[in-house]
Amino acid sequence: MTKSISILATFLTVISFTSKAQTETIKRDRFTLNITNPSEIKTEQTKNELVDAFFETYPQFARADGYRTKRDVTLTIKPDLNKNVMAKEGEVILNGNWINSAPKNIKNTIQSALSSNWVSSDTTTKKGYTLIFVNKDPAIAKDLQSRLTQTFFAVYPKLVKTYNKKAKREVLFVVDTAYKAVAEASGGRILFSAGYMKKNNTDVDVVTHEGMHVVQEYGYGSGPVWLTEGIADYVRYKFGYDNIGSKWSLPAFSDKHSYKNSYRITARFFVWLEDNVKKGIIKTLDDQLRRKAYTENSWKEITGQTLDELWSSYAKSPDVKLTYQKAVWK
Ligand SMILES: [Zn+2]
Repeated sequence: MTKSISILATFLTVISFTSKAQTETIKRDRFTLNITNPSEIKTEQTKNELVDAFFETYPQFARADGYRTKRDVTLTIKPDLNKNVMAKEGEVILNGNWINSAPKNIKNTIQSALSSNWVSSDTTTKKGYTLIFVNKDPAIAKDLQSRLTQTFFAVYPKLVKTYNKKAKREVLFVVDTAYKAVAEASGGRILFSAGYMKKNNTDVDVVTHEGMHVVQEYGYGSGPVWLTEGIADYVRYKFGYDNIGSKWSLPAFSDKHSYKNSYRITARFFVWLEDNVKKGIIKTLDDQLRRKAYTENSWKEITGQTLDELWSSYAKSPDVKLTYQKAVWK
């Protein structure tokens, strides 16, 4: 009896020593998995399946989880965990009995443990367009989610058809509590600030402005930021689903303005250009920016006048007739 206890004690010491010493680190793409006690996984095959399952699920989760989700993840095996998997950003804990029972559903089990961190994740497909809507804020009303979704399906397909037929057909919305600005788009993901959307719950055409950024796909260095943002707000003016409901409008012209002011000030200038100088100029510029063919000379090539000449003509008679849409909500 005494002897067997002493053998067991020695054995435990060795395990705990090696498990500390043997944290196994695996990097794939821009993600790092640190298995803190790999010796708790009985076979190499199980370990390989687990590692593959992790890298098939966690990067997707991180993308949909929103703002600055951890890319460095600790994975620990615990023999006495009361469920098979607990997972959140940066941390995965597995039940040792479960993982060593050669489970067939490692990937799905990790995936559902990760998505339980969200309030909801809904996927809607209509006429070839898919919206995945991840909400991380329990205080976001279903009504707001529904209006953002309706705006997406009313506007985004039109932007794709008008400006870039190769644009993504699948878009991910993430309403994130950790993100404090208004909204931003990168790749096919649009990140919304939960705080902003709750305070400004009529401002659904954030979807239109950011949706245009998804369609633009200019990449870095294609043109000046004021031009990219001016086009996105011009598109919000032209295609906005409920600019009346959100009381969004283009500001009156002021001689203190410049086209470099970006956003709505630039957008108003673009409305004037379309109406008075060259119909379709924004579509042409958008196309050039995507093809990396835009230069300062583009203005002269398209209209016969330089950008500064165009702006001074605008400043001399800046009147435009503006019309806005009002949504009918379902
Ligand atoms: Zn923007």
